Amino acid sequence: MAPLIKYTKHFIDNEWVDSKSGKTFETRNPVDGSVNAKVSEGDKLDIDEAVKAARRAFHRNSEWRQLDASQRGQILQNFATLVERDADYLNQLETHDNGMIKLMANMMSDFAVKSIRYIASLADKVQGYTVPADGDNFSYTLKQPVGVCGLILPWNGPILMFIGKVVTALAAGCTVVVKPAEQTPLTALALAALLKEAGVPKGVVNVVNGYGETAGVALTHHPDVAKISFTGSVEVGKLIQQAAGATNLKRVTLELGGKSPLVVMDDADLSLAVPIAARGVFANQGQVCVAASRLYVQSSIYDKFVEAAVQYAQQIKVGDPALETTHQGPQIDELMLNKILGYIEKGKKEGAKLLTGGKRIGTTGYFIEPTVFADVNDEMTIAKEEIFGPVQSIIKFDTLDEVIDRANNTTYGLAAGIITTNLNNALHFSKHVESGVVWINTYLMGGIQTPFGGFKDSGLGRENGIHALDPYLEVKTVTISLPKKL
Ligand code: NAP
Ligand code: MG
Repeated sequence: MAPLIKYTKHFIDNEWVDSKSGKTFETRNPVDGSVNAKVSEGDKLDIDEAVKAARRAFHRNSEWRQLDASQRGQILQNFATLVERDADYLNQLETHDNGMIKLMANMMSDFAVKSIRYIASLADKVQGYTVPADGDNFSYTLKQPVGVCGLILPWNGPILMFIGKVVTALAAGCTVVVKPAEQTPLTALALAALLKEAGVPKGVVNVVNGYGETAGVALTHHPDVAKISFTGSVEVGKLIQQAAGATNLKRVTLELGGKSPLVVMDDADLSLAVPIAARGVFANQGQVCVAASRLYVQSSIYDKFVEAAVQYAQQIKVGDPALETTHQGPQIDELMLNKILGYIEKGKKEGAKLLTGGKRIGTTGYFIEPTVFADVNDEMTIAKEEIFGPVQSIIKFDTLDEVIDRANNTTYGLAAGIITTNLNNALHFSKHVESGVVWINTYLMGGIQTPFGGFKDSGLGRENGIHALDPYLEVKTVTISLPKKL
C-alpha cells in the first residue's frame, strides 16, 4: 500500500506554503513511473523568502541564537527520537519516491538516526583555544556559525543526505535553506515536519522544492547565503563553486562523484572478494557515489574471478523494492535508465565483453539487469565515466605498482579498495592511492565517526567525523592587550 503523503508544499518559517508562482511539478514512483504527488515548484522568489526567514532566524537576538549549544544539541536529540519513531513510515516513503529497496532504506535510516545522535553530541563541544601570541597580549579563538547555509541534495540517498547536511549545520548553530533533488522531495518534507516537532524554532530550517536550474541557481547566487554544501555531479559541483566565486565568496563543501577502483590481488579469498566487489557496485542499483565501478583483478585469478562474478550477478533478484526479498530495485528515472543503457551500448561497441545482463527489464518502471563486462580496458568509456547504474566492469592487471598508477589515472578520487591477505600490499596501496576513502578487505563500510570526502574532482572538504562541524564554522581570533605592570 502506498504511504500517505502528508506534505507537498515548501516549508518556510515553520509553515507550509505554496510557490509564489503557483507552479507545481510531479514526483514519480520509479517502479512504474506513476505520479506520487504534485509538489510546489519553487524558484528565485521562493528562495528569497526562505533565505529571508533563515536570516531572521540567524539574527544574534533570535530564539535560535540565544539557545545554549547544549540546548541545540538536545533539540537534535529529540529529532533523532522522532526519526526513530517514524522510521517505518519514512522508509516506505523513501522506497515510494526513490525506488530504494526496503533493506537499504532500513539500513540507511538506522545509520541516519546514529548520525543525528553523534552530530548532535558535538553541538556543545565546539571549542576555540588560547594562543601564546607575541607581545603583552592574550589571544584566544572563537568558533562561530558561518550563517545561512544552502544545502543542495541529490536523489540517491535522500533521507541520509538531508540528515547529514541539515543536522551538521544546525549543530554548528547555522540556519538552512534546503533544496532537495527534484526526483525525491517527499522525505525531505517529512523530515522538516519532524524538525519542527522536535522544537526547532521558525526560520531555522526551510525547504524549497524545485529544479537545480532555477531554485538551485537562486540559492547558489544569493548574496545572503554564506555557505553551500552540495552532493551530486562534478559538473554541477563546478558550477556551484563558480557561483560562489562570482557572488559573495560563499564557503563551499562539495561531495561529488567517483570512478572508484577496487583491486583484487591473487592472494585474496575469492569467496569473500566476489561478494564484496558485487555489493560494491550493485548496491542501491549502482546509484552510489563510491561505487566500485572499476574492478581490477590480478591476471592469474582473472578468469576464475570473472566466472564467479557472473554467477553472483545472475542471482541478484531485481524487482519490487518494497519486498524484503528484493536485492535490486528500479533506477531513479527514465533519464538515468537511458543514460545507463547508453553506457552499456558504448561498452559493447568499444569491445568490452558483455557476459550477463545489459538490457532493460520489462517496459514499465526503470529496471536494468545486473550487468557484468569483462575484458574492459582503461581507455573504454565504461572505465572512465561515472555510470551510476548496476554495471560491473572487470579489468585485468599484473602487478600492484602497475595497478596503483592505473587506479590513480583519473580525475576522480573519492574511494578505493583492495582485497588481499598480504598486509604489505594493503598498506602500500592505501598509502599511494589518491582517494578520500580506502577500504581494505571490505567496501562501502563506514561510520558517522569517520571523515568522508574526495581528492581531486571528487570534492572539496570533508563531512562526518569529529570535525564535521568545522565547515559550518568561522574562526575568530580575539586579542586582548595586557598591561605590563599593574
Ligand atoms: P545533479 O544534477 O548534480 O543534481 C544534484 C542536485 O543539484 C539536485 O538537487 C539538482 O537539482 C541540483 N542542481 C542541478 N543543477 C544545479 C545548478 N546549476 N545549481 C544548483 N543546483 C543544481 O545530479 P543529477 O542530475 O541528479 O544526476 C546526474 C549525475 O550526477 C549522475 O549520473 C551521477 O553521476 C551524479 N550523482 C552523484 C551523486 C553523489 O552522491 N555523488 C548523487 C547524485 C548524482 P535537480 O533536482 O533539478 O536535478
Ligand atoms: Mg539534475
